[in-house]
Amino acid sequence: MSVSVSSSVQTLKLYVGGKWVDSSATSTFDVYNPAKHELLARTPMGGAADVDRAVQAAAKAYPEWRATPPVNRVRPLFRMKELFEKAFDDLARTITLEHGKTLDESRSSVRRAIDNIDMAIGIPTTMQGRSLEDIATGIDCVTYRQPLGVFAAITPFNFPAMVPMWFLPHAIACGNTFVVKPSERVPLSQQKIFEILHECGLPAGVVNMVHGGKDAVDGILDHPGIAGVSFVGSSPIAHYIYKRSAETGKRVQALGGAKNFVLVMPDADMDRAAQVSTESCFGCAGERCLANSVVLGVGSAYDIMVEKLVAEAKKIKVGDGMEPGVTMGPVISQAHREKVLGYIEKGIAEGATLALDGRGYKDPKNPNGYFLGPTVFTNVKPEMVIGREEIFGPVICIMKADTFESAVATVKKHELGNASSIFTSSGKWAREYRYQVEPSMMGINIGVAAPMAFFPFGGAKGSFFGDVKAHGTDAVDFYTDKKVSIVRWF
Ligand code: NAD
Repeated sequence: MSVSVSSSVQTLKLYVGGKWVDSSATSTFDVYNPAKHELLARTPMGGAADVDRAVQAAAKAYPEWRATPPVNRVRPLFRMKELFEKAFDDLARTITLEHGKTLDESRSSVRRAIDNIDMAIGIPTTMQGRSLEDIATGIDCVTYRQPLGVFAAITPFNFPAMVPMWFLPHAIACGNTFVVKPSERVPLSQQKIFEILHECGLPAGVVNMVHGGKDAVDGILDHPGIAGVSFVGSSPIAHYIYKRSAETGKRVQALGGAKNFVLVMPDADMDRAAQVSTESCFGCAGERCLANSVVLGVGSAYDIMVEKLVAEAKKIKVGDGMEPGVTMGPVISQAHREKVLGYIEKGIAEGATLALDGRGYKDPKNPNGYFLGPTVFTNVKPEMVIGREEIFGPVICIMKADTFESAVATVKKHELGNASSIFTSSGKWAREYRYQVEPSMMGINIGVAAPMAFFPFGGAKGSFFGDVKAHGTDAVDFYTDKKVSIVRWF
């Protein structure tokens, strides 16, 4: 495979204390455009030393920022929103360039990032404490919400602009200072975002960015100057983050991986169920923690869904996400493409039926891209590897369930519980399903059950480690301590 390397390929800088600075890293990670296999940039693979510089800058900025009235703290966020709107298309193009998803998908994720700024702007209201007069005669009780210091976020490759914004605006509006460690695979969207943050009027050190992989992450987890960590990524790493952060006494919320089931009842609107489930599973080339990648067809719904899902999947147009009309881009890397191909081979070996085979897909315009066509497996059993493990690629697994109860049992038995959906025209089935299964993000006749910025985001079981979810008013809970003041005046 030939690689075209532009002479302008740069090793990215860190953003520390309001300045762009060089990393002390001795190695770099190559960032490619996945549609073309063209080198875009190099991520410095920094470690504890880079993290310490960022934490020191954040700690220095903290006392003054914490003492800034909340109404003044959110002023730079109004400017941030304005600059995000101005840079909207540029940001979307950067996401597509480094991640591969279609421009429409990138635009929706930028919109969701901006929604989080909107939510954080309301912090002078949402951060208010509670009070009760006369808890005893002449004694009042007041709860204040106070920031805690320096927080950090460690984020995945699949939503390069949006996921860090689930955390940063809320954390700083609450009066904390912040360090972001984006995925080394997609650093350019955060680079653009920090160029915006630089123009917002935030004091130096309130927001900082470091780069790297495991060494930088360990530098964050072990740093005594960090009060709390937000993580989004795969479940084994989420569990590691949870344990190691707890050992050093940090607050932690760790959002992990997913294997999301969609139940289709015989009374569902089958056309809509198939169309929406296809978008859910194959959107972002399946690299989405809310993708409903396993369809459980209950009774007669199974055969109908097999036929309709194959027909819908065949309509998908694969190619460079920058091109109009393309509805599915490449996967993130050649290594990830091979991993997904390995799952497809495994599914065949385990006896599932390959009803649509995306393995051979080639884009004549982009022969070096990491493309896969949509792949549909039928006759999948819950115990098969493809029925159990997160594939995180454009592969849908269709299982048959004889009854609603057996479908529910399959969902309950799975160790992960990020999201799930049911398609039905019966309120009773919908209510029973929502009531009984654990995944915390639940779609009723919805393909992607994505909570908006004003609701909590996060899963259950092995998909989430922590107590308080991301964004919504949960963010205020995570980023503040509730100090209770009991007052009597003589
Ligand atoms: P990942 O776990 O490989 O990486 C996430 C972050 O952890 C990155 O910043 C990476 O640098 C760091 N990291 C990687 N290996 C590490 C290690 N050994 N020790 C310490 N840190 C390490 O995840 P990914 O491949 O970037 O993202 C895909 C995963 O994220 C999927 O499992 C997906 O379901 C999950 N995800 C979950 C949600 C959610 O809301 N639950 C949202 C988006 C993505």
